[in-house]
Amino acid sequence: MPFLLRVRGGQPLAAGKVVAVAKNYEDHRKEMAGAMGSGAAGDRRPPEDPVVFLKPSSCLAHDGGEVVIPHGVANVHWETELAVVVGREMRRVDEAEAMRRVLGYAVFLDMTARDLQADAKKGGMPWTLSKGMDTFGPISEVVPVAQAPAWDAMELELRVNGEVRQKGATRDMIHPVPRILSHVSRYMTLEPGDVVATGTPAGVGACKPGDALEAKLPGIAALNVRVVAG
Ligand code: MG
Repeated sequence: MPFLLRVRGGQPLAAGKVVAVAKNYEDHRKEMAGAMGSGAAGDRRPPEDPVVFLKPSSCLAHDGGEVVIPHGVANVHWETELAVVVGREMRRVDEAEAMRRVLGYAVFLDMTARDLQADAKKGGMPWTLSKGMDTFGPISEVVPVAQAPAWDAMELELRVNGEVRQKGATRDMIHPVPRILSHVSRYMTLEPGDVVATGTPAGVGACKPGDALEAKLPGIAALNVRVVAG
C-alpha cells in the first residue's frame, strides 16, 4: 500500500521516493565534522553541489504516529527538515520552473541510526539502512504553496519532551530549494508525490523510547510523534 500524504484542504496524495539532502546548513555540517566523530576530509568545507541520498517511501509515518527503534539499534538521531512535496513532474527543469511544480511544504524528521551511519561512512559503504528504516521519516500534513510563505521565509523548531532542541531558519540553507530541485531533476526525474527533504540545522541528538518529538514550521505545520521500542 502506498503511503498517503495528507494535503491540507485537498485530496490525499500517494507518496513516491524521498530525496534527501545532507550537509545543507553550515552549523549542522560543522557539528557533524566535529563532535559527532564522522568528520572526513570532505567535511571541511561546504559541498559545491547538493549531497543527495534516498530514503524509501516505506519509511514515511504520519503526524500522531510513532518512531519505532528496532531491537539492537542504538543512537537514533532526530533531524528536523523542511520537506518540499512535488506536484508536477520535474525533469531537467530550471529553478523557476521547478518552483512552479511544487505542491507544498511539510515538516519532516530525517531519523538516522547514527552509529550504523558512521560505520557505513567509515567503511565507504552506503548508509541507506541507517536512514531508511520503517517510521524513520515522519511527515506532517502538506501545506499547499498558496497557503505557505516562500521556502526561505520559514523557521524550523524541534521540541523533545517540551524542551527546544533545534531551531533554525530555512534562509540559512547552503543550497537553496530552487537549486536543489533543478539540480536533482537534471539526473533523476522528480514525480508527483515525491518528497524532497532539504537538510537539518544544528542540534541533532539521540532520542529514546518514551520521548515525544514535536517538530514545527511555526505558524505553518506541526508534527508530533512518540518514540517507541520495536
Ligand atoms: Mg537529514
